[in-house]
Amino acid sequence: MLDRPHPTPDAPTLDQQALATALSGKHFIGGRFVPARSGKSFAVVNPATGLEVAHAAEGDASDVEAAVQDAEVAQKAWAKVPARKRGATVARCAALLRDHAEELARLIALETGKALRTESRVEAQTVADIFEFYGGLGGELKGETVPFAPDVLSVTVREPLGVVSAIIPWNVPMLLMALKVAPALVAGNTVVVKSAEEAPLAVLRICELMNRVLPPGCFNMLSGFGPECGGPLVAHPLVRKVTFTGSVEVGRIVSKAAAEKLVPVTLELGGKSPMIVFADCDFEKTVTGAITSMRFTRQGQSCTAASRIYVERPIFQRFVDALAAKVDAMRMGDPLDEATDIGTIISPDQFKKVEGFIKEGLATPGATGRACSAMPSDPAMEKGLFIRPHIFSDLPSDSRLVQEEIFGPVTCVFPFDDAEKALAAANGTEYGLAASLWTNNLRLGLDLAHRLEAGLVQINQNLVVQANLSYGGVKSSGLGKEASLESMLEHFTHKKTIMVNYG
Ligand code: ADP
Repeated sequence: MLDRPHPTPDAPTLDQQALATALSGKHFIGGRFVPARSGKSFAVVNPATGLEVAHAAEGDASDVEAAVQDAEVAQKAWAKVPARKRGATVARCAALLRDHAEELARLIALETGKALRTESRVEAQTVADIFEFYGGLGGELKGETVPFAPDVLSVTVREPLGVVSAIIPWNVPMLLMALKVAPALVAGNTVVVKSAEEAPLAVLRICELMNRVLPPGCFNMLSGFGPECGGPLVAHPLVRKVTFTGSVEVGRIVSKAAAEKLVPVTLELGGKSPMIVFADCDFEKTVTGAITSMRFTRQGQSCTAASRIYVERPIFQRFVDALAAKVDAMRMGDPLDEATDIGTIISPDQFKKVEGFIKEGLATPGATGRACSAMPSDPAMEKGLFIRPHIFSDLPSDSRLVQEEIFGPVTCVFPFDDAEKALAAANGTEYGLAASLWTNNLRLGLDLAHRLEAGLVQINQNLVVQANLSYGGVKSSGLGKEASLESMLEHFTHKKTIMVNYG
């Protein structure tokens, strides 16, 4: 389907810099690479070195117009493809992405600074898994028969919504995009994605690869800035659904724009996810669990990061010491080095923001912040955006570090004596995305799980998003669910009722 020749390699490549160069300056619209209509582009910088690795097309309303028009035309034909065949096509995309997983992992490590071994490979494999999962769900787009009256057959059918716009962030861009694109396509919609300005390359490559299998126009990719490119995309009259992952602030803007047009919106926003640790937990497993939960390997740049850890007093000090020792043993460095555990912060702006939080924590009377792990010694990483993970104790509960999403390697620990007080503290922020509980008392764990204000609660584990399990927040953490069959049915189709009077 692709216009040939084009500069990107057919076979998977492990030369991430050559691939980044080949992907430079392009959107992907209507089955082919195209430059921005304005001719403008912006730099894509490797946060580990500070060096420019590519430039991305700077989209505006005219690129949005072209992409949405192509998606609209493609949607009419795509919706007529039988649902299971659409699923099978998406499953073929999954296989292609699986073949290119190492390539995608290296490319995402280059543009985001996420460590290859601990983060980027995991993301690339999960992306293939998500497309595979949804690829099998075409046959589940079923309706119902509704008892109404004798001689009247009343049924519901699931229909696609039309053109879907997906706006994605930079922290796990491939995965968060897959959660939107896969169900949207299987349900018979077509998609225009606006990538995050910090990480436009790997998602563009995925779009290109999938366009080898999909009909042209079904999956389009724009790069550009939020207000100039994302804004017109959300507001476009032909866009019939908006799905967004990002900050609460932009989520509100996007939601208002969708409300103006009366189109449905799914929002995956921030989090301040608590972890509650009881003295009867499996100690070693829980300390390791805290490392995973806090997503330290990703410099804490996760909306589900366990950025508040409540520990029952008898094991508090031992737990904090063991956690600090484990983080100390982690290695920060070149994201592409197999020995590296922790990569970089994404951008200078984010770096300043996280540093500001740390400075504020350290200046808080009575509070202590323990800096862990060591800065990389490699001179090539001199300009890298590395921040030492910090574990804060004795912060007041109204501190900004306790209430606000930092999106950096900063967690706050608190001792507790009373489970009810720990629960109240855990519920005491505006967010409600995820939470975890660590105890061998499952009666207590389940009771608290029911009363935690969060979209996802895990006991004795804290995995990242998994296909087949609904994921999404309550309170300011968002609206709607992703990653599951229900999310495809509820958020990417509408139910039409058809009645036949045969009396
Ligand atoms: P983050 O703080 O994680 O960068 P943002 O909410 O700022 O999160 O950005 C998430 C995505 O939303 C990005 O792709 C960004 O370009 C896009 N975005 C930002 N502002 C707007 C806007 N006004 N309209 C639509 N999209 C936007």
